[in-house]
Amino acid sequence: MRKVLVLTEAKAGNLRSVSLEALTAAHRIAEGGEIIAVALGSDANQFANVLGKHGAKKIYIIGNKVLDVYTTDAYSQALRQVIDVVQPDAILMPHTAIGKDLAPRIAARYGLGLVSDVIDVQVDNGDVIFTRPIYSGKAFEKKKVVSGIPFATVRPNNIPVEEISGTIEILHFHVEIKDLRTIVKEVVHKTTGDVDLSEAKVVISGGRGVKSADGFKPLQELADILDGAVGASRGACDAEYCDYSLQIGQTGKVVTPDLYIACGISGAIQHLAGMSNAKIVVAINKDPEAPIFQVADYGIVGDLFEVIPLLTEEFKKVLAHV
Ligand code: FAD
Repeated sequence: MRKVLVLTEAKAGNLRSVSLEALTAAHRIAEGGEIIAVALGSDANQFANVLGKHGAKKIYIIGNKVLDVYTTDAYSQALRQVIDVVQPDAILMPHTAIGKDLAPRIAARYGLGLVSDVIDVQVDNGDVIFTRPIYSGKAFEKKKVVSGIPFATVRPNNIPVEEISGTIEILHFHVEIKDLRTIVKEVVHKTTGDVDLSEAKVVISGGRGVKSADGFKPLQELADILDGAVGASRGACDAEYCDYSLQIGQTGKVVTPDLYIACGISGAIQHLAGMSNAKIVVAINKDPEAPIFQVADYGIVGDLFEVIPLLTEEFKKVLAHV
């Protein structure tokens, strides 16, 4: 039985679903032990119930206003004070921009190893075994922590969320945050779609074949119908058809949606590094020899400007009856 600490994360007032995936992973590691969730920020209170429904037994709410916006300094000070009190046997965090920044700092402070970007967790004969992709997703390795406690970041959209209800204890935890080297005065958000790209269940991606910023409009329309997000290849970003925040691939975001539709993307290895673990890949390309077809489950050889509106119409009809 282990005591597992999970850092949860919210974005724009909504709990990120990877927080619940991390709780499911924690449940496996805990083996009947205690799962402790930490929620930060002045509106963290609102997430206590949903965290409780997904396995958290104790929920540490740290309501300091300074934690409403992420800074490495403030978050690491807050989390370290929780860790010192809880003394967990394992720690999990989401593999998000925050987790990627914070986890190494926490690991270094406590002299722990860190297994980053895990897509699966199992316990084998009492050993915690993490699975993570290597070589840009072309292979997977299994890792066991042999010294110190298991500490990992969990990649979004890989561990199916389980509902595990029980009694919950909510603790309003007071932390002292001082000597901050960075204070965020204002956060200006780029206007992107409503659905978070790295957690989206459906991603419609455009490449250089989309040909212009306007060419992304039919992709956005299809994404809206399917409650998905729009992504892009670096080719499309370099051509200034869209913002770099949409870039998927080795030097962009890694996505693992249920459905990935690549439109006018050739399928360069650097692009595949960001999407090849999608559950179903559909490629639309007018070149039948495009490498993207080698990783696609379904390929459509054709002009994306003809194919996408047809798909959108068909989805509209089907979804009207659901
Ligand atoms: P192209 O390769 O030009 O392909 C366009 C495709 O559109 C073609 O296959 C064409 O047949 C098709 N097409 C054209 N018109 C239509 C139409 N009307 N209908 C249907 N199909 C059409 N790339 C990434 O994506 N992500 C990364 O993170 C990334 N990181 C990189 C890191 C490094 C170090 C390097 C060197 C490169 C990186 N790249 C990355 C770039 C990558 O190598 C490719 O250059 C890029 O992915 C190509 O983008 P693309 O497929 O949109 O463009």
